[in-house]
Amino acid sequence: MVLGDTPPRDENGPMDFATLALDRGASPVLYRQLSDQLADAIGRGELAAGDRLPSERDLAMALGVSRTTAVNAYRELEARGLIRGYVGRGTFVCAASSSEPAGAPFAWRGKLAVGAQRTLDPTLRSIVRAASDPAVISFAAGIPALECFPTEAFREITDRVLRRGARTAVGLAPTEGQPALRRAIASRASIRPEQVLIVAGAQQGLDLVARCLLDPGDAVVIDRPGYLGAIQAFRAAGAHLVGWDAGQGDLDELEDLLLRYRPKLLYTTTTFQNPTGRTWPLPLRRDLLELTARYRLPVVEDEPYRDLSFGAAPPPSLFALDGGRSVIHVGTFSKTLAGGLRLGWVTANEAIVDQLALVKLRDDVSTASLTQLVIADLLTSGRFDRHLAELRAEHSRRHQTMLAALRRHVPTGALNCRPVNGGLYLWCRLHAGLDARDLFQTAAAAGVAYVAGDHFYPDGAGANELRLCFSSVPAPRIEEGVRRLGSLIGGHRHQATHLNGAQPLV
Ligand code: PMP
Repeated sequence: MVLGDTPPRDENGPMDFATLALDRGASPVLYRQLSDQLADAIGRGELAAGDRLPSERDLAMALGVSRTTAVNAYRELEARGLIRGYVGRGTFVCAASSSEPAGAPFAWRGKLAVGAQRTLDPTLRSIVRAASDPAVISFAAGIPALECFPTEAFREITDRVLRRGARTAVGLAPTEGQPALRRAIASRASIRPEQVLIVAGAQQGLDLVARCLLDPGDAVVIDRPGYLGAIQAFRAAGAHLVGWDAGQGDLDELEDLLLRYRPKLLYTTTTFQNPTGRTWPLPLRRDLLELTARYRLPVVEDEPYRDLSFGAAPPPSLFALDGGRSVIHVGTFSKTLAGGLRLGWVTANEAIVDQLALVKLRDDVSTASLTQLVIADLLTSGRFDRHLAELRAEHSRRHQTMLAALRRHVPTGALNCRPVNGGLYLWCRLHAGLDARDLFQTAAAAGVAYVAGDHFYPDGAGANELRLCFSSVPAPRIEEGVRRLGSLIGGHRHQATHLNGAQPLV
């Protein structure tokens, strides 16, 4: 199924409308009963933003009511800003019913452009919010150990950069980025500075790639599970997402998908993946490039965690192996320095860098100059590499702390996860019929946050998986957060009747 400019839904599609129960003799009148039930279904999430509703005629036939009843019900929902009709295309759900204050002359939700309606998922915003709430022990956001941030070096370099010339430091940088930073990044990747585009974080890079390369209805092959911000960026561009389990590394399966869906591009995180933490071995990288070259398929390689190995360096990136011909590579300082700096980069063929810069210009003329100049100095002076060594060691300790705490506090057989060799995450599977989304509600009430697994699947799978970030909080808080989580899991598990196929925590 290739979806047009509506957000893709899981394969079951919208609800079965024939099951709506209307009572002719009762009040309110039929069309109000119908609009109320549809509004409830939107509120419960059974109908999601972007779902197409049946035509008024089909709905009337399915329910055995007059067409006027269906027309009036849709009018009512449209006035409440919950659905919107498009001439020639049909009627679509446009918002969850959280809705707006009463009394406005119209519902703003009902005025949203089709493109904006593809951007209604608040998950990333909630993750960022939980990370800054001191009352919450958050294992949700992917944040490095900020206690290691090189504050002194940063302060000293900022001072020097400002003294050298405030004009350059606070003036507009070229849209492509400050030449000094482009040179520093290019030299680390052994490429030309013209192949580097500076962006306000990797997320901007992904959004630019999506805006630059995708038309509504284009298919994109994406890691399953995969980074939720990428799912959102490609979905916002109207793409049809096709999941491929890169962890299995089955290239025959991938080739089948290429033949069946003719995708416009393939997106993957090859190194210490978000959320699973896995890293592709070198042969898989080579074989994938051979396959994508045969199909002339562009690859977007998102590698924010490359520099965060606990031990040996990971294999070369797809970008390096391919010589930057058909791979667009996305990097960021969010995971090695701090996400609040909002600084990342895209490396690619010069022609595509040029086009990406023009698209960037539409809403971001220039990435903050001062931060670029300071980080360029950190990179060239060797201070960044010294910082990385410290950061990796601290992450490795926190990783061990979290694994030990999980072993100590989570009942045996209730949760399964594997140690990783780098990155920021543990990917865990709950057993005994536990649902990560249900557990999330009780965890939030107990002041612990994580990300439920379903957010990493384009098709809503992953109900019993969850992602824990081990790097963001110091050891004592890891211990306390995992203790709370463990006792909640124990409580939930107590309620579950059996324990099927449970495996011990690795
Ligand atoms: N890509 C991946 C795989 C990520 O995990 C993240 C952040 N969690 C990003 C991109 C976005 O990073 P940034 O903060 O630089 O926008």
